[in-house]
Amino acid sequence: MVFSFDTTYKQLDSDLYSIVTPKRIADPEVLVLNEGLCADLGLDTAKLNAQILAGQDPPEEPIAQAYAGHQYGSFTNLGDGRAMILGEYVHDGERYDIQLKGSGRTPYSGRGDGNATVSSMLREYLYSYAMQSLNIKTSRSMAVVETDEAVERRRTEPGAILVRVMNSHIRYGTFQYVANQASDELQRFTDYVIDRHYPKLRQRDRTYLEFFDAVMQSSIEMVVDWLRVGFVHGVMNTDNMSIDGETFDYGPCAFMNYYDEETVFSSIDKHGRYAFGNQRPILRWNLRRFAEALQPLCTQSALTYDELEIKLDEFEDRFDAHYYTMMQKKLGINADGEKALVDEFVEWLRKSNADYTNAFLELETPGTFDDPMFATAKFEQLREQLATVGLDDTLMQEANPRYVPRNHLVEEALDEYLETGELSKFKMLLTVLETPYTSKDIGSQFQQPPPREFDADYTTYCNT
Ligand code: AMP
Ligand code: MG
Repeated sequence: MVFSFDTTYKQLDSDLYSIVTPKRIADPEVLVLNEGLCADLGLDTAKLNAQILAGQDPPEEPIAQAYAGHQYGSFTNLGDGRAMILGEYVHDGERYDIQLKGSGRTPYSGRGDGNATVSSMLREYLYSYAMQSLNIKTSRSMAVVETDEAVERRRTEPGAILVRVMNSHIRYGTFQYVANQASDELQRFTDYVIDRHYPKLRQRDRTYLEFFDAVMQSSIEMVVDWLRVGFVHGVMNTDNMSIDGETFDYGPCAFMNYYDEETVFSSIDKHGRYAFGNQRPILRWNLRRFAEALQPLCTQSALTYDELEIKLDEFEDRFDAHYYTMMQKKLGINADGEKALVDEFVEWLRKSNADYTNAFLELETPGTFDDPMFATAKFEQLREQLATVGLDDTLMQEANPRYVPRNHLVEEALDEYLETGELSKFKMLLTVLETPYTSKDIGSQFQQPPPREFDADYTTYCNT
């Protein structure tokens, strides 16, 4: 067997998961397989056939996890409605969940059909691949397997299963679920999560407080990375916030092109709750919900809620510290203390509405883009100011991608597959995004933002 599992989650209280069976699929077909990821996991791709990747005859009983979450501000009980963990796979001392998404109904499906469309699973594959290549901590996609049924959404499409790999799928919402449904279990569950993700904290005096601190830290680092590359997650419900700072749940996500902190693409995010510039305050809001979920520990251990509040109060300063360090790197500044210049540049981005990715490349190498935005006196003046303290090539090349998934190119690639069954545009995009910090001699189309009208109308969807 290619996969051998050691699924520790099954040793937890049985309220936390359900045993499930992936749906039968007559004729699964592997559309894409992530060779790099398989190599990282020491898996022999020759043995990973469609049957295995589609969870047919799994080596042990898969599970669906129970969790809760604040969705757009309202608390709900949830769980994996269309995802199943095949098992935990251990390689080189690291533990990974191997999960199928779109593998059929579970006890948590509600009215959902348990399925996923092929375009949405290819989309998740592409974004997670891009994020990994951008050096951002993320879930990874091992494969997309097309299934034989037709899935009805906005359009009817073939179904597909995504094989997703994460350090774990434990989220803020899992803690919310345990606190609400099985609070007696919270301490044991927290100890499990600390052992699995933050084992160094075991030796500390104030383990639970340090755990909260570590989760806050990993989440801050994740969101600062999103701001670095212009990523809009799109659905930062607490059930989509990983306990280990892994970006995941690539549903309505997209990259912002024209700088605007109000950028939202998700069809249901009418009020901009998860807009590009709202990701920071929403993270803080989510962390408060996470702190509340830890409250039962305060009666079971030395932890007090006041201590959690004090930690939360550190949020703004800690986020700022990371944010400014990151932005200074983007501007090639190798020191602290240039916050005013960062703010001034961001103010220019706000006013000019310039392409976020290309603005930094243009600072690095003037004349790269033929865009009137970059020929203004203000841009030139900012560049001159920056030249005295920053514009260090090496720093800039590490922080500023040359390529991000451009919304129109992603859609063209997915449409090509749906219309012709060809994956040539999709694979070309993957090739470009595999090394996003390296300039390539491939023509400018991969660096051009879509027309402004395209982005203004661009809409992405959840649960497709
Ligand atoms: P998301 O917004 O993608 O995080 O999903 C929220 C919840 O809806 C999760 O519990 C999912 O498992 C569930 N869900 C989404 N789509 C489906 C579907 N087609 N069938 C069953 N459950 C679903
Ligand atoms: Mg989710």
